[in-house]
Amino acid sequence: PAMIDAVAKDTDLVCLDNVSRVFKKAGTEVVALCDISLRIGQGERVALLGRSGSGKSTLLNLLAGLDQPTSGSITVAGEDIAKHSSDQLAAYRMNQVGVVFQAFHLIQSLTAQKNVELPYVFASVDRKTRSVLATKSLKAVGLADRANHLPLELSGGEQQRVALARALANGPKLILADEPTGNLDSSTATQIVDYLSAYAQANQATVILVTHDEELAAGFSQRVIRLHDGKLVAPSTGSNH
Ligand code: ADP
Ligand code: MG
Repeated sequence: PAMIDAVAKDTDLVCLDNVSRVFKKAGTEVVALCDISLRIGQGERVALLGRSGSGKSTLLNLLAGLDQPTSGSITVAGEDIAKHSSDQLAAYRMNQVGVVFQAFHLIQSLTAQKNVELPYVFASVDRKTRSVLATKSLKAVGLADRANHLPLELSGGEQQRVALARALANGPKLILADEPTGNLDSSTATQIVDYLSAYAQANQATVILVTHDEELAAGFSQRVIRLHDGKLVAPSTGSNH
């Protein structure tokens, strides 16, 4: 009975409250993000748009646990990551988030299968388990028959699907995709985004997709968020739930 208060009614996966990120270098300050407050629901697909330099990557890096805010709080799946130690952030990155970038960041000397397994090698997941995870994840992005190919033997779209398989292999609830289609032609871009949508829908996962392509954003997302000079452009401060 004492636990009744603990029952969560909140379906938000991501909560940012008054988040700022200021970079200091050589005596000058760059305000990359200024007082961002934002809620994103579980299972929600969001497109993040804004000019180059508007703070998109800074925001994604904060949510990825690769950077921490100068001020404000960030909660993801109930974890207050702005206050996490570096060990806690490493565990958070391993367990909660999948990240995809414009550059595929594959190891050229490793097969698709081994590239997908690599994060789990570092996380000390046993050989058998990581092999099963990687096989399943490559299959989910339509690359079962390419598992033993090297990146150079794959097209750009296929390489990005390997990167996607790596990001999704352990079933993250939050996917952060920073211009993942920036190096791809439009039909390949659509295919990547379709795999992201399919994963999100099958797993009740939240996706934040950074793109410059308004059409791609509209087809993919349930909500568009815009940044301008580090500030959120109204009206996107709350989730639609
Ligand atoms: P976007 O991804 O929208 O192009 P960024 O988030 O990369 O924008 O950058 C936002 C602003 O913060 C830019 O003015 C950029 O120069 C600055 N910035 C980003 N990262 C750093 C950093 N590590 N050190 C200093 N300034 C940075
Ligand atoms: Mg960027």
